Amino acid sequence: MSEHIPLAIRREIREHYFQCCAYCQSSEALTVVTFEVEHIVPRSHGDQTEFNNLCLACPSCNRHKSNRLTGIVDGDLVAPLFHPQQQKWLDHFDWSINATVIVGLTEVGIATINQLHMNRRQLVEVRALWVTLGKHPPN
Ligand SMILES: [Zn+2]
Repeated sequence: MSEHIPLAIRREIREHYFQCCAYCQSSEALTVVTFEVEHIVPRSHGDQTEFNNLCLACPSCNRHKSNRLTGIVDGDLVAPLFHPQQQKWLDHFDWSINATVIVGLTEVGIATINQLHMNRRQLVEVRALWVTLGKHPPN
């Protein structure tokens, strides 16, 4: 719902996340889609359009996250999704040895990977290409 977010805040968010998805870390410059400024806690849950509740997300992560706040870790075990403004990516995720797969380090990380499909097949394959080009993983 980026149409409700003032342009100045959208610019600030894009710079804050270095034009990378706050979840899967894909670089917008390596894709053919425009990333979206999304509400981390959805407005439908009562949260506001302000810097601390916004992040940059690729369309796939944004669509899979939708208005959810939690994801499935395993079976019936549910955990909150990663909050890019309140948590550090490296506390919850890491890259596999070849940097093509995101590894969940915590329940939050695993739930977010599962809910947002952060290791979807096409993305893993394109990460391998980005690695060969020296463009991945991000710094
Ligand atoms: Zn993403």
